Amino acid sequence: MPEVENLIIIGSGPAGWTAAIYAARANLRPLIFAGRAKTVPSLELPGGQLMLTTDVENYPGFPDGITGPKMMAYFAQQAVRFGTRVVSDDGLVTEVPGADAGPSGSFHDVKSVDFSSRPRKVTGEDGTVYEAHAVIIATGATANWLGLKNEQRLALSGGGVSACAVCDGAMPIFRGKDLAVVGGGDSAVEEATYLTKFAGKVYMIHRRDQLRASKIMAKRALDNPKIEVLWNKTLVDVLGDQSISGVRLKDTKTGEESDLPVGGLFLAIGHTPATAFLGGQLELDAKRYIKLSDTYRTTTSVEGVFAAGDVVDSVYRQAITAAGMGCKAAIDAEHWLADQGIS
Ligand code: NAP
Repeated sequence: MPEVENLIIIGSGPAGWTAAIYAARANLRPLIFAGRAKTVPSLELPGGQLMLTTDVENYPGFPDGITGPKMMAYFAQQAVRFGTRVVSDDGLVTEVPGADAGPSGSFHDVKSVDFSSRPRKVTGEDGTVYEAHAVIIATGATANWLGLKNEQRLALSGGGVSACAVCDGAMPIFRGKDLAVVGGGDSAVEEATYLTKFAGKVYMIHRRDQLRASKIMAKRALDNPKIEVLWNKTLVDVLGDQSISGVRLKDTKTGEESDLPVGGLFLAIGHTPATAFLGGQLELDAKRYIKLSDTYRTTTSVEGVFAAGDVVDSVYRQAITAAGMGCKAAIDAEHWLADQGIS
């Protein structure tokens, strides 16, 4: 049986790596499950949602902006520099790919957890069971899909349907085509704006008559001559055999259906927290985000198990707020371990 770890961190977005930096600097030698890269449609990546972002311009300290993947590579390097170990195909590694290497395919997922007794148990994707006194959950949230049959079929076959414009939008199949983005939030605006670099025209399909996006982002979309918002429309089908040829829309006011020819479709309709692997062992809220037992802390319904970042937060969902929570979780874990006489 391997030794009992002080702290296992699950998840490697800004929350997970920041927790690792703080815990490692507190000499806790944290072990992190950074997650294995998935393909469409789940699009989970080590580094989390920032791996799907081009320029991060609102994270303090980067006056010229920084790409999401580069930022996450820096976070990871900082965490391992102080002694964080990463569970990977090569065992527990203390080196991570550089900023230009992209997401590592060798980092491990967590299959399940057992919080019914102490120490807590975390089972990796290869079946290895790790024991830890404390655990931090920072698994974030993944992109939502509409769930239409043809949407899934064409997404899986590479037929021009994607939940990540930043990952896929620059592909040759989309160049010069008219494209559609579903959603009316900041992500939809960001994705539509990004796609205008490659597309002929970008339609934003939104189910209401007002964007949910922040005012500055909404203005960016409405002022862009290459973006047209189609108001009060839902997407009822995706057309095309081998690749997308268009979408069928339904007007939410009149019920009238119409076909819009497009050469690509991007979903930007929010995210779902990655909490399924918890098997109901932590209390969740109605939207399946982890419920904190104290609003100002990172404590959960299970003692010694802490949570941080987008897996907890359906409101702010920013890199800076996730990183801040990761810091809080590491400090909460450190204090809790000290109270237990473990250091
Ligand atoms: P969001 O704010 O939850 O917006 C989701 C959008 O998808 C909404 O417009 C929603 O419509 C629509 N939608 C949801 N389910 C749908 C369905 N089944 N069919 C059709 N439309 C559907 O999600 P988000 O845009 O991903 O943003 C998440 C958070 O990240 C937000 O806090 C946002 O501010 C932040 N963010 C910030 C930036 C930035 O500042 N650069 C970039 C991206 C995201 P309704 O409006 O009708 O509900």
